[in-house]
Amino acid sequence: MQSSRSLIGIIGAGIGGLAVAAALRARGFNVRVFEQTLKFARVGAGIQMTPNPMKVLRALGVEPELRRISFEPVSGLNRDYDSGAVTNELPLRTAIEDRYGAPYLCAHRADLHTAIKNVVPDEVISFGRKLAGIEQGASSVTLTFTDGSTETVDALIAADGVHSVVRDAMLGKEEPRFTGRVAYRTTFPASLLGDKQIAPSRTKWWGPDRHIVIYYVTANRDEVYFVTSQPEDAGWMTRESWSTKGDVNVLREAFSAFHPEVRRVLESCPEVYKWALLARDPLPRWTEGRVVLLGDACHPMPPYMAQGAAMALEDAIVLARCLEGVEPEGFATAFKRYEWTRKPRASQIQQMSGKNTWMQHNTNPDWVYGYDAVTAPLTDSPVD
Ligand code: FAD
Repeated sequence: MQSSRSLIGIIGAGIGGLAVAAALRARGFNVRVFEQTLKFARVGAGIQMTPNPMKVLRALGVEPELRRISFEPVSGLNRDYDSGAVTNELPLRTAIEDRYGAPYLCAHRADLHTAIKNVVPDEVISFGRKLAGIEQGASSVTLTFTDGSTETVDALIAADGVHSVVRDAMLGKEEPRFTGRVAYRTTFPASLLGDKQIAPSRTKWWGPDRHIVIYYVTANRDEVYFVTSQPEDAGWMTRESWSTKGDVNVLREAFSAFHPEVRRVLESCPEVYKWALLARDPLPRWTEGRVVLLGDACHPMPPYMAQGAAMALEDAIVLARCLEGVEPEGFATAFKRYEWTRKPRASQIQQMSGKNTWMQHNTNPDWVYGYDAVTAPLTDSPVD
């Protein structure tokens, strides 16, 4: 347990920020989370929680609620886009649980977020606080918000996502590369599919230059989610944003050569959101003195392995473990230990995600799904 009453500031009440807040509080730390939005919207997005993040969510006390609300697919199914031939099938449910000791669940992203938020007391989170800049002193960090207000903390965890202000302050303005691709996604009531419901699997349909992933996001299968990846010349004008709308007719046309099961889903969906797919290289470092980056702020990745939030959750528990029992004068060293432990794995998955080949054909997923961030050894020196 932490003896002093030092204060750790966290920027961003997203999946990673809330998870690290919960993990640090469980170790006796005093934390405050600053979030730019006033209220979270239930935007259309699903999320796959593979066994590796499920072990983190178990440690945070969120697993029972997730098991109650989430859809548990029969298998991770990979199919050819037009013939529907199965190219690879990973048995899930008891098979995956026996193999890795945790389930593989699919949920609405907002439901996962709410479940994590429910283990963090309301008074710890300040909404409507948009960080504008930071200034680091010898033993504190001063935060300045866009409304001109300031706060001083003993250390800062930046979980401010893909457009991280803290990352830019630490490493200079980032210039991501547009991949020429966009992701369309939405959730919609399964009742719109009528009596032609989707398979009870998480299914990825692989085309030559585009794909679509489809699954239910609720335990009672009343909500369907899909996410695509497809080329789009004008896609660079789109932001990486959860709320930018797309044109459903453009999407249907782009998948008109796909299997009738896919076309039926696209015909049934009333609206879609659009997310530009940008590429970024691993950062040279994640920490500077008493400031440290976590989640998408330091390793944003294309969603092709369904590991972005998984990595943020693994970061959260490893960072909390590195800080356990550490007094403020040891924070900078603890942050380095976290970077040494996490960077090789997160960078490997970040680079592998960009290839978009994961699980299309026979693949051994042990190194990704079999990892346990709650017990994995911590690294005490830099790794090349
Ligand atoms: P976020 O969840 O983005 O949270 C950042 C928070 O910081 C937000 O609340 C934001 O409002 C706040 N913030 C930002 N700037 C400021 C500021 N200046 N001041 C104050 N607050 C600020 N991952 C998976 O594991 N499985 C999946 O199936 C999956 N599917 C995906 C599908 C799509 C289409 C996409 C785009 C991503 C997907 N991901 C998936 C990735 C996953 O959503 C992200 O990796 C994850 O949300 C990262 O969490 P985070 O906490 O780092 O950032």
